[in-house]
Order: sequence, then structure tokens, then C-alpha cells
Amino acid sequence: MSKEAVIVDPGGQEQSIDRFIAQNGLKVLKIVNTHGHIDHVAKVTYFQKKYQVSFLMHALDIPLAEQAPKVAQMFRIPDVEAPQVDQTIREGDSFCVGAHVFKVIETPGHTPGGCSFYCQEQGILFVGDTLFRKSIGRVDLPGGNFTQIKHSIVEKLFKLPDDTIVYPGHMEPTTVGYERKHNPFFGEQRESES
Ligand SMILES: [Zn+2]
Ligand SMILES: [Zn+2]
Repeated sequence: MSKEAVIVDPGGQEQSIDRFIAQNGLKVLKIVNTHGHIDHVAKVTYFQKKYQVSFLMHALDIPLAEQAPKVAQMFRIPDVEAPQVDQTIREGDSFCVGAHVFKVIETPGHTPGGCSFYCQEQGILFVGDTLFRKSIGRVDLPGGNFTQIKHSIVEKLFKLPDDTIVYPGHMEPTTVGYERKHNPFFGEQRESES
């Protein structure tokens, strides 16, 4: 088994992440973000320096990430630097972790540059704050758009196999099949379809 690792959305808990990496002898390859909100970027600079790795994110979320220090001040969160994006990602890009390939799927709506990361052969999907168990991401923050998030979920994420495990940016994992059936934001549509 490869000991390669990619850090996704490091917004905090740097000590437990460091411990996990050390205990498992992992080699961190890069940091990849689903979007640029502060609770996902706050520790990017810390990990960039610590492991000497690049930070990848969609270009449209760079303005959000640049506001992180200002937002941190507002919420009195200490030690937040604006992360430097080393490389941008977009639809169709992919990155590898060991033998596993993750495809970048653009899923805007929660933020303009929101992305999800899909590993077909492992059947896992990182969605950031686009989709949650029986809920969806906020669209009332700057750059949020309900029509866009709906399109991202229905036309892109819900096209993936039912048993795909969904890891959201907050709260517990779910599956594509469960959300297609039980997500209250799309219930009506399901009824009219069937
Ligand atoms: Zn967010
Ligand atoms: Zn979040």
C-alpha cells in the first residue's frame, strides 16, 4: 500500500492531522481544496510550510481565500494567513494518491469555484459544503447561487453510482443513493420524475 496522502480542506485540527500523518508514516503530496471558505483554508499555510507542498484550488475561489485573514479577525480566530494558491484546478483535472485517481468535478453554487473530488474505483466523493446528509450547502453567502448548487448536485453528483460514499465538509458521511432518495431539497423533483 502506498503511504501517500493528500490533505483536503485543512480548516483546523492541525495537531490531530499531524499526529495521524506521523503515526501512519504518510508522505503528504499536496493540499487540495473543495472551496475557499475560512473554515476550509485556515490551516493551509501551516501545512504548506510544514510539509513543503503545493496548494491547489479553483481560481474562482481565490478572492474568498484571500479574505480569510479579515474574516478571521472578525471571528477572533488567531494565526490565519491568506493561503497562496500554487496551482489552480478545474473540471476534468485529476490528481493521484498512491494508485487512486481523483477526478475534479466543478460543483459551484455554495461558492463560485466549488469543486468535488471523485475516486471511481474506491467509490468515494469529497463534496466540500455542496451536499450534506439530508441537506445542501448554504447559498446565502457572497457568491452563493441556488440554481447553480441545484444543477451541481442533480446534474453532476446524482449521476454518480448510488453506493458512492459522500464525505461532506461537515457532519457525517452519506451516499449518493441515499441523498437522491431522501434529500428534502430534491424530494419533489423525485416524485414528479417517478
Ligand atoms: Zn463553505
Ligand atoms: Zn464549511
